[in-house]
Amino acid sequence: MSRAQRRRVLVAGGAGFLGSHLCRALLDDGCQVLCLDSFVTGRARNLAPLLDNPRFHLVRQDVTAPVLAEVDEIYNLACPASPRHYQSDPVHTTRTSVVGALNLLELARQQGARILQASTSEVYGDPEVHPQPESYHGRVNAIGPRACYDEGKRCAETLCYAYRHQYGVAVKIARIFNTYGPQMDADDGRVVSNFIVQALAGGPVTIYGDGRQTRSFCYVDDMVEALLALMASPDGFCGPVNLGNPDEISMLALARIVIGLTGSPAGIVHTHPAADDPARRRPDIALASGTLGWVPRTSLEDGLARTIDYFASLRTGQ
Ligand code: NAD
Ligand code: UDP
Repeated sequence: MSRAQRRRVLVAGGAGFLGSHLCRALLDDGCQVLCLDSFVTGRARNLAPLLDNPRFHLVRQDVTAPVLAEVDEIYNLACPASPRHYQSDPVHTTRTSVVGALNLLELARQQGARILQASTSEVYGDPEVHPQPESYHGRVNAIGPRACYDEGKRCAETLCYAYRHQYGVAVKIARIFNTYGPQMDADDGRVVSNFIVQALAGGPVTIYGDGRQTRSFCYVDDMVEALLALMASPDGFCGPVNLGNPDEISMLALARIVIGLTGSPAGIVHTHPAADDPARRRPDIALASGTLGWVPRTSLEDGLARTIDYFASLRTGQ
């Protein structure tokens, strides 16, 4: 592929869990990749295998400052995703979601670039409708501990639509549901990484509350495929579109599977429930399968086995 034909792609948040997988996939696809990250939750080790690639460039910058670059496509993944991290500095989380989206939409407008905004299932809050279709407007607590993230992402969606209507920017909104896999941060407090790390260490595995709350977990390779398909979709299609795996599971069942797959003697302990913790979550992915021709392919057992291998290799230093 000639230099002129190569897509120039900006990945904001590219040093994070999802972003680093996306950068690798874009490089595999022949793109020129500019990764912009403040490293607030991202890690250099996620990018280590990419640094020698001459088509990969890294800029350490906060997305809340104006961004200048010559690009054809923009993925905005810049935002801490784990409740522990996004709640630790709620003002900056809100600023990241809102001002960050504004800066990248402005760049998209100037460059005539397409932009994909990573939104979240959290826009549905603690839902009364189950599973959640895109038409459901959600039940978010505007002043709760999750609000900085939920409302920030809702406002980012609003900004995407405003830029589309006012300036004709080609926007794509991905409502991402819980995603897991290798390169998750062992310490960021998300349930899959917590359970695996705890089980590998011999336990106990900590469940917040009674463990009957549910989530639906998507393996990272499936999610990256969905993001690429959404970016490649026709200009007229902007979403929002749910991306996730509709297989729903309780946290108690998840804990038992992780303990079984690791072969750990770990027990289970129940602690206080997390504040404002959504009771159930499962995506309706009819829109994604109909318009993008995408469905997740990795079973929870296969994805967890690969993720367990990753965390086990960290323990043995491989
Ligand atoms: P992550 O925390 O691993 O990665 C986020 C990345 O963004 C990190 O590298 C971090 O350093 C960077 N970042 C954060 N704030 C920034 C700022 N102000 N300026 C520049 N960089 C900044 O999280 P992830 O799981 O990879 O999530 C990526 C995106 O996908 C996020 O926008 C998140 O909201 C969204 N999402 C993820 C999930 C999931 O289950 N992983 C679910 C829903 C939505
Ligand atoms: N959770 C848990 N133990 C943990 C971490 C999380 O029981 O060590 C629960 C948490 O209360 C929530 C679910 O697992 O009900 C998913 O939590 P996570 O932070 O991974 O994602 P989110 O709540 O943002 O969907």
